Amino acid sequence: MLLSYKYKLRPNQKQSIKLGQWLDLLRSSYNWCLRDRIDGWYQQFIMGEYCDLQTQAVATALTCAVVKGTQLANPWKDGNGQAQKEGEKDQSPKRTPSLMQDANLQDLKAARPWYQGIDLGVLQSMTARVNESFNKFFKGAGFPKFKRRHDFKSFSYKPGRVKFKGNKIYLPKIGWMRFYNSRSIPVGFQIKTVTIRQKADGWYVSVRLEDKSVPDFPVRADSEVKTIIGCDMGLGKLVYLSDGSVIDNPRFSTNKKTRHLMKVRQRRVNRKQKGSKNRSKAQQLVNKLHNKIAQRRESHQWDAANRIVKKADAAVEDLNISGMMKRCKPVKSEKGRFLSNGQSAKRGLNRSIADASWYALTQKLEYLAAKSGKRLYRVNPKHTSQTCSQCGHIDQASRNGEKFICTNCGHIDDANLQAARNVKQKAITLYGLNIVKVFKKKVRGDSPKPVQTTLFDVELYERLSDNTLPTKGKGCVGKNPENKQLSLWDIKGEIS
Ligand SMILES: [Zn+2]
Repeated sequence: MLLSYKYKLRPNQKQSIKLGQWLDLLRSSYNWCLRDRIDGWYQQFIMGEYCDLQTQAVATALTCAVVKGTQLANPWKDGNGQAQKEGEKDQSPKRTPSLMQDANLQDLKAARPWYQGIDLGVLQSMTARVNESFNKFFKGAGFPKFKRRHDFKSFSYKPGRVKFKGNKIYLPKIGWMRFYNSRSIPVGFQIKTVTIRQKADGWYVSVRLEDKSVPDFPVRADSEVKTIIGCDMGLGKLVYLSDGSVIDNPRFSTNKKTRHLMKVRQRRVNRKQKGSKNRSKAQQLVNKLHNKIAQRRESHQWDAANRIVKKADAAVEDLNISGMMKRCKPVKSEKGRFLSNGQSAKRGLNRSIADASWYALTQKLEYLAAKSGKRLYRVNPKHTSQTCSQCGHIDQASRNGEKFICTNCGHIDDANLQAARNVKQKAITLYGLNIVKVFKKKVRGDSPKPVQTTLFDVELYERLSDNTLPTKGKGCVGKNPENKQLSLWDIKGEIS
């Protein structure tokens, strides 16, 4: 089983300076290696035996320090670099650019002695990172980018290098360092890759742990699934669940107080002179606020995901979030002028969607479900908010904001909870689940020991009972001859 634990480090002043220096050195070397690879990449397209366009020199080990791809068959970079017999061609497999860059690290240390203070494994993982960025590019990701100070914040040690003892951690070439031992490493687990990361409020370490003798949790088969819960992600509340409970959306970055604070701190940055120390201090405060928001959101999402997964096997909508956050299409008048297209209003909505970060929540659900041997099903969200969960009638007019009134059978419900029930039903039919409906006891005020119907201790949505609907007269919903759209308030007015 593989686990990943995170701790906060407590470096002393010397150590934190050293960690910062390492990041700078590694970043500069990363950018150098990346340039090397990029040059190699462009030279693939040059035919003939020329090294590069600038010098037009013939490719030899002496004139070309550029790491070329294995496609070019550079004789001095084949295999271990030496042929078995003199005059013969080396038959051993060609080395990858990443291996070549690894071999060059010794030269780097010799030429630039200040790199000798860095652990060799850390340098090697840096070249591996360059290689990974290229591998991703070959698989269709964007072209590798040079790293700036703000996007190069971590480095990692190779497995078996880092040691733990009590509340101290041993980092090679840095020494013993204190850390907040918030959870103990389970017995029998081996320490794999260890990554040190800088954040706005200090240094963190994330540790990969592995124990091959411990099996992963078995995944339940579809036939074994007995309970299921539908989730509908929203903005008013973060999650609406098919059993009628909801999880709050605290709007960590878009609430009024935080937005005001962010605005003030950002303004303070903008008023300082560029490149000054005061500006960087002010920027640090902005970073800290961003960090705090992220931490709060993470914590809330883990909590929410835990509560959902504990209940049952979850079913979630497969949302197209990037599609939802797209900009509005530009509108042009006949004369070619741009007209208002509602983008300024959409911007606020996009912010709220980004703040809710449903994708991150879905990922946490997936992780926790896998960890506890449960299942997470995905269903197409099409029509989930327009379908009646009682009669299955699909009509866009049924939904009116937060309210849902079926135009066919008159079923009244909260629109979001209604969607959650539809998600659940969709998952049951799509995956052919054998779910037996269990009726739970309701809470009774006069019973000696009240039984709670739900595990949630948050407010429950009261479902409007169907008998408030008029069965006769003008506002009769069951027989709606004119197919008139009725709002909930119209009906209430009719009753009183
Ligand atoms: Zn209906």
